[in-house]
Amino acid sequence: MALIDGTSRLLIDGKLTSGGAGGFATVNPATEEVLGEAANADAADMDRAIDAARRAFDDTDWSTNTELRVRCIRQLRDVLREHVEELRELTIAEVGAPRMLTAGAQLEGPIADLGFAADTAESYEWTQDLGHATPLGIPTRRSVVREAVGVVGAITPWNFPHQINLAKLGPALAAGNTIVLKPAPDTPWVAAVLGELIAEHTDIPPGVVNIVTSTDHTLGAMLAGDPRVDMVSFTGSTATGRSVMADAAATIKKVFLELGGKSAFVVLDDADLAGACSVAGFSVCLHAGQGCAITTRLVVPRARYDEAVAIAAGTMGSIKPGDPTKPGTVCGPVISARQRDRVQSYLDLALAEGGEFACGGGRPADQPAGFFIEPTVIAGLTNDARVAREEIFGPVLTVIAHDGDDDAVRIANDSPYGLSATVYGADADRAARVAARLRAGTVNINGGVWYSADMPFGGYKQSGNGREMGVAGFEEYLEIKAIATAAN
Ligand code: NAD
Repeated sequence: MALIDGTSRLLIDGKLTSGGAGGFATVNPATEEVLGEAANADAADMDRAIDAARRAFDDTDWSTNTELRVRCIRQLRDVLREHVEELRELTIAEVGAPRMLTAGAQLEGPIADLGFAADTAESYEWTQDLGHATPLGIPTRRSVVREAVGVVGAITPWNFPHQINLAKLGPALAAGNTIVLKPAPDTPWVAAVLGELIAEHTDIPPGVVNIVTSTDHTLGAMLAGDPRVDMVSFTGSTATGRSVMADAAATIKKVFLELGGKSAFVVLDDADLAGACSVAGFSVCLHAGQGCAITTRLVVPRARYDEAVAIAAGTMGSIKPGDPTKPGTVCGPVISARQRDRVQSYLDLALAEGGEFACGGGRPADQPAGFFIEPTVIAGLTNDARVAREEIFGPVLTVIAHDGDDDAVRIANDSPYGLSATVYGADADRAARVAARLRAGTVNINGGVWYSADMPFGGYKQSGNGREMGVAGFEEYLEIKAIATAAN
């Protein structure tokens, strides 16, 4: 990888530097080979990064110079595009992302979406004139101004790192904030490469973007707690999100959370069962199920339960987890041995809870190296089982029976999460009526795609707070100032 020559660096205050805690290995999850080293930041590095972001916000015109910001974000998009083939190979190697997904959400999608962030800033109505009024009898001219929140601490996971890093960076910068990004320790290079490109190929001023890779999770907690940080934007597990929210409470900072999911794929009794269940099975295999919005509960008519299980198992049993560099691979490895063992522990739990496997159930015998898990269908359980309630984050689908539309809605909503949902049914109006009752932030009806730059994404309930992407995602990074000027 020409962009990173063996060891990646931190970006702090415009300079590429090594980490105070030395380096740590980044590993290819498909082969278990060490790709190289990433800079391992310590608390002093994080402190300098926060300080640099604070000064860049307070002492420069970054937050008010929309033209500069728009130009810089487009520069970043363009330089990422120039390097897209190197980035693709890096993403496949470090994330284990199947090559086909790098044409979309794993790489090219989020790069293109930077254009949406720049366009939004350019056309945004920053000042709204509310006109004259006489509140309390005093003639007043009123306006509402939107301005940046300040310093944003962004904490991200490893599953779709470009998507999540850039869906925070783009809108936060477009809105006028400065940022400290702390990516997941499992995928440091795909974040560090942004730092290299920003430092060497854009006019983004020093301190506006800081990228701090580390194995130390407490650096994330530092961001959440530090009074110099005005907002924390977090994507990851619900457990960590809860801790981020608690740490942020001391300074009442703005908290954006995009957390876990246990989304339902509801098949109504008039649907094409074969089509719906194969789509459900296929989609849970994408990127080995490591997507927070993947529909991992298949909710099907009770009368056709066995048929539905067989169809899903037919699809998933035919998808062999394998080499993500190959163009036809759908299901690559999971990110780490720890994650593979976590998924395996849920498979063991499914049996202990009285479930059975219609396909899969463990590690593939023909893959001695790499963190692979067989696509697995769990049957014979109800929505009360832990494997139907907890996020597994692997290629695992639990099939649950329903007794009609009301029961299907009840089951879909009977979850601590509310990130996404899918409904399949032949009668589009009926499917839309079911969809309207689902407590989830995104809903797909009969195969519609909600993922795009102008669509807001986020969750109800314990799946999070706020929205990423779309104009709503941009506005998460804004404060509102009401200005009243005496008019006489
Ligand atoms: P995590 O939530 O533990 O970590 C996400 C990010 O938070 C990382 O950058 C991590 O360093 C940081 N972090 C960890 N502890 C922190 C703390 N106390 N304060 C601030 N930041 C902290 O997620 P993970 O360990 O990468 O994965 C664990 C599980 O999370 C997965 O198995 C999966 O279920 C879930 N997950 C969900 C998503 C999602 O998008 N919803 C993404 C990845 C993982």
